[in-house]
Amino acid sequence: MKKRALGSSGIELPELTLGTWLTFSTSNQELANGLVEAVFDAGINAFDTADVYGMGDGERALAIALSGYPRDSYFLASKVFFPMSDAPEDRGLSKKHIFKSIDNSLSRLNTDYLDLYQCHRFDSDIPLEETIEAMGVLISSGKIRAWGTSVWAPQQLQQAQKVAQALGVPGPVSEQPRYNILCPEPEREVFPVCEALGLGVLTWSPLAQGFLTGKYSEQTSQPKASRASHPKPQGVFLQNALGNPEAFKKVEALKEIARGIGVSLPALAIAWCLRRREVTTVLIGASGIDQLKENLQAVSVDWSEGLERAISKVTAGPLLEL
Ligand code: NDP
Repeated sequence: MKKRALGSSGIELPELTLGTWLTFSTSNQELANGLVEAVFDAGINAFDTADVYGMGDGERALAIALSGYPRDSYFLASKVFFPMSDAPEDRGLSKKHIFKSIDNSLSRLNTDYLDLYQCHRFDSDIPLEETIEAMGVLISSGKIRAWGTSVWAPQQLQQAQKVAQALGVPGPVSEQPRYNILCPEPEREVFPVCEALGLGVLTWSPLAQGFLTGKYSEQTSQPKASRASHPKPQGVFLQNALGNPEAFKKVEALKEIARGIGVSLPALAIAWCLRRREVTTVLIGASGIDQLKENLQAVSVDWSEGLERAISKVTAGPLLEL
């Protein structure tokens, strides 16, 4: 598995990182263990999770799955921001919540440190100075190696770097945006700003939460064992795509392109994310080992000008309202 630099942080990551949202839980520990084993076999040793995934259960399942591997053999990223209880102080990017959340994450993940701690969203209720100072304390105390952001606007990233410089604290090293063929927006502003600031980019939902596998239908009911059929569907994006005839048209055109070069649509969609040099690593998700193996084929797709042209025709025009 090829590696790419995480901006100017000095950290290198494999092109693909295993994500754990909705797919890692201690109630299906066998799946978590199997996914971790399969990615290590493929040369992937980077994992992304968050405190809020399964309200801590995603981190617990990941820790169990990683328990047989030395801590320095893998890269571990988690996140903080979303509410962890109904208590008003148990959310956001205040110092109080960050300090509590990191200790809980480290305990659930059974480790002394995270390689990357990400602010899951921007918190407009807390001064940026307070959040960045908290990150500085975590770095000095050895609880995290570096910190990053997720779904922060370009101006917020620029501001974060300025504030960090003024405080003499390490600034963010990465941003984590949603990025897939149906959502190419980060190419407009987020990627150029990240490149200018020396930030690495970890992209999420490369398959639009499964929509870009082509397994969903506009006409019939959705496959039973799928994210769309979950009794409590999560992921507004997938729900919006399922209600959007334009999105289905695009998927049909993409299926043809994938067929034309003899690869699966998921592999093509992930390879599309990897074609940009600003992308450090693509966070992949899988609900089964077969899905994972299909998705890993992405790294073997030979990107070409012909492919770029064909897919640009599909993505051209106004962005979908998703
Ligand atoms: P994807 O868009 O790749 O969706 C993954 C899901 O698609 C799978 O769980 C599975 O769902 C379906 N799928 C995947 N591969 C196949 C296949 N080959 N054939 C058929 N179905 C397939 O990624 P995620 O949305 O899971 O996001 C990846 C990671 O990104 C997360 O785990 C998380 O770490 C991160 N993330 C970060 C966010 C943030 O706010 N920072 C937000 C969201 C994700 P099923 O079988 O159930 O239909």
